[in-house]
Amino acid sequence: MEAKLKELKAHLNDIFDLQGIAGILYWDQSTYMPKGGAPARARQMAIIQRIAHEKFIDPAIGQLLDDLQPYAESLPYEHDDAALIRVTRRMYEREIKVPTELTTAMSAHAAASYQAWTEARPANDFARMQPYLEKTLDFSRQLANCFPGYDHIADPLIDFRDYGMKAETVRAVFADLRAQTVPIVQAIMAQDPADDSCLRKHFPESQQIAFGLDVIRHFGYDFDRGRQDKTHHPFATKFSIGDVRITTRYKENFLGEGMFSTMHESGHAMYEQGLNPEYEGTLLARGTSSGVHESQSRLWENVVGRSRGFWEHFYPQLQAHFPDQLNDVPLDEFYRAINKVERSLIRTDADEVTYNLHVMLRFDFELALLEGNLTIADLPDAWNARFEADFGITPPDHKDGVLQDVHWFYSNIGGAFQGYTLGNVLSAQFYGAALAANPAIPDQIKQGEFGTLHEWLRTNIWQHGRKFTANELVERVTGQPLTIDPYIAYLKTKYGALYTLEV
Ligand code: ZN
Repeated sequence: MEAKLKELKAHLNDIFDLQGIAGILYWDQSTYMPKGGAPARARQMAIIQRIAHEKFIDPAIGQLLDDLQPYAESLPYEHDDAALIRVTRRMYEREIKVPTELTTAMSAHAAASYQAWTEARPANDFARMQPYLEKTLDFSRQLANCFPGYDHIADPLIDFRDYGMKAETVRAVFADLRAQTVPIVQAIMAQDPADDSCLRKHFPESQQIAFGLDVIRHFGYDFDRGRQDKTHHPFATKFSIGDVRITTRYKENFLGEGMFSTMHESGHAMYEQGLNPEYEGTLLARGTSSGVHESQSRLWENVVGRSRGFWEHFYPQLQAHFPDQLNDVPLDEFYRAINKVERSLIRTDADEVTYNLHVMLRFDFELALLEGNLTIADLPDAWNARFEADFGITPPDHKDGVLQDVHWFYSNIGGAFQGYTLGNVLSAQFYGAALAANPAIPDQIKQGEFGTLHEWLRTNIWQHGRKFTANELVERVTGQPLTIDPYIAYLKTKYGALYTLEV
């Protein structure tokens, strides 16, 4: 068994390294690569991904998994070897069910669609994207149908990113969340808007970078195993547990952009840096689901980074970086500005209270499109009507409406968005569990100390990687299944102090 396990790990290590190489190519493309490198880079990434896919569907891996099954069953569920065999089997079986021709056709289409979108979005040209989206929808259905036996056609696609979740479960969580969020939004919208002009002065980039790096160093992001570079759409990426990088972007006329995206990506990156080093080179060495991943980025960005306690410590330092811009702005005014709630067009710029409504809209459209209850041709009108109903504003154009998110234009339709809201919900649930175990955390945050929180997250969540599914992890860590209650309580407490709320 030991020899077979070693052989399995050697196979997986090759795949892990190929994925790391693909990650480096993507990182380079998104940060430093000159435009002229694009055609060759697309080929280079495609070949690496093809080799990784071929290596993974090698029947030798299936044979090793079969041979190792009795050994896995003889072990406790929590044993690392049992988890490795269990997770590898799950992902292997998923991979072999999708024909290579479909994967290849989908990636070629995705590359062409993404390229067209980069031009069509600024040109506000939905008509150009319609045939691409129709093909994407067709591919998405084909992909889902590689996994027959689902309850809802979106289930297999949701499963890719949030294993164990189904359209029905997500729909139920979202319905509840929506019912409790809308009255909060309406109560806030009836009041005077917060003034965030203090964030919209001129903030030189070099000072923003210095401050942001200092904050995430305090959070515990390890710069010996990471670095930060600039990009258009910030992301975190891992080449190995020893090299987990983040990217960010700055706006000199808006302080919120770079500061909070840096905190956000550091949350994703600390999760990957915090993996058990023993898992390196295996399929266990990754965050367990998109929802849990997002819970970590949101916890650091919002629950910590947009809290008043955090700024009691860091605001004087921020003022020292920007004395001319902020010395005459009191802490409370600044705190109100960074937590301004408003009806906005763009999901990625949305505040904590309205953000989930943006996600629900997209999730519902994914289901309707996959079900065949909505056509791509009708999507722009449906988008605007729903947006008007949910936010009270109509997008002035497609650019900031239906064309705004990259997801449908470079990947499949289905499963792309629910993780963001599950992440928001889980950020509060996990943080509540951390506080129950360590009531001193809020006081420590006021002192600029994050060691206890960092260590609690590392021990309870990060180190496990994919060993536990999201549902198992939530139960284990918080003692109950996913629940929206802590998140709603968090919103009511926080925004009840900022606005008058009687909901
Ligand atoms: Zn994120």
